[in-house]
Amino acid sequence: MRVLVLNAGSSSLKYRLLADDDTPLVDGIVERIGEEGGVADHTDAIDRVVAHLVEAGVDDAVQAVGHRVVHGGAALTQPVLIDEDVIATIESLVPLAPLHNPANLLGIRASMARRPKLLQVAVFDTAFHATIPPAAHRYAVPEWTFTEHGVRRYGFHGTSHAWVSRVAAEHMGRPLEETKLVTLHLGNGASAAAVDGGICVDTSMGMSPLEGLVMGTRTGDIDPAVVFHLMREDGLSGDEVERLLTRESGLKGLCGDNDMRTVEARAGEGDTAASLALDVYVHRIVRYVGAFAAVLGGMDALVFTAGVGEHSSLVRRRVCEQLGFLGVSLDDAANDAAVGPDGATTISTGPTAVLVVPTDEEAEIAHRTRAVASG
Ligand code: ADP
Repeated sequence: MRVLVLNAGSSSLKYRLLADDDTPLVDGIVERIGEEGGVADHTDAIDRVVAHLVEAGVDDAVQAVGHRVVHGGAALTQPVLIDEDVIATIESLVPLAPLHNPANLLGIRASMARRPKLLQVAVFDTAFHATIPPAAHRYAVPEWTFTEHGVRRYGFHGTSHAWVSRVAAEHMGRPLEETKLVTLHLGNGASAAAVDGGICVDTSMGMSPLEGLVMGTRTGDIDPAVVFHLMREDGLSGDEVERLLTRESGLKGLCGDNDMRTVEARAGEGDTAASLALDVYVHRIVRYVGAFAAVLGGMDALVFTAGVGEHSSLVRRRVCEQLGFLGVSLDDAANDAAVGPDGATTISTGPTAVLVVPTDEEAEIAHRTRAVASG
């Protein structure tokens, strides 16, 4: 089944049409939606996508549309066929994902308006984490915050963690059901997951994608008292602190740059702020890998994916250097050679495997969409 995968952001729409065997037939992005020099809205963006499909002679080939939706909350824990009830539920989750769910909905509505006869499926970033038990997904705060406001850990990047877990087990020639994995999705956003037998049992992101690892511009874990302290001492509002922690923090906060390539280059030239940023970034990853190995009661493989995970041999080396006690021993030549998305690669020699696995969220969304669309 040929699936058109749509990933709608507030000002961009990424799309890919995948053939039955996941070969990309058409790939693209419509940018600057609602901005000067761009298209007016998401419906216009969908028209651009359709025009591209027509031009490529594959418009009739589309059999289903798979939408990436960031937050499915506690209610939507599996990919679903989209109807008005599903749309209402995604809408009800906007307070938990104010930046993402509204944009995802614009893409869904535009696609349904332009292609009403096609099956439209929603695939949620949170879904893979729905199996995380209460001991790991609940915060130690009063019950009413959970029951009235849904305050708990949900986790994100689920399609990526699910994809690389499966590919990693295949690459190792082991049944996924018998494999304990720690997966590290290190992109602009970053998260770790503990995957036991293919089932996610813990993750580093929380109620929002702000918790956990150090990211490009997001702080990851921080003492919540920092928020009150800054509000009191610096007179910042809640919105201002939110902006500080989501847009001005992470690597950017520590050294002024959020692109790991630049941070690495500066650190290589002896820049102390960039070196510190790298140290904090690596330390946080090591801390999570250790914690998740404990949660899993062992680790068969550590999996690196996304921009930094797939391309930065330095970050992989720095992380693995500290994990010898877990049976990790890096093969330096293999690590240095694994710098592109050329399929899964083993980069270790020790008893605990270390793998680089290119993520493919579009293919994962296409698989889930096919499964739902074919009933
Ligand atoms: P997104 O989360 O936006 O999908 P990606 O997964 O593409 O992001 O990751 C983007 C990040 O990957 C960039 O910020 C960059 O720092 C990092 N990156 C890409 N290539 C390299 C490289 N060769 N070395 C180090 N970091 C890299």
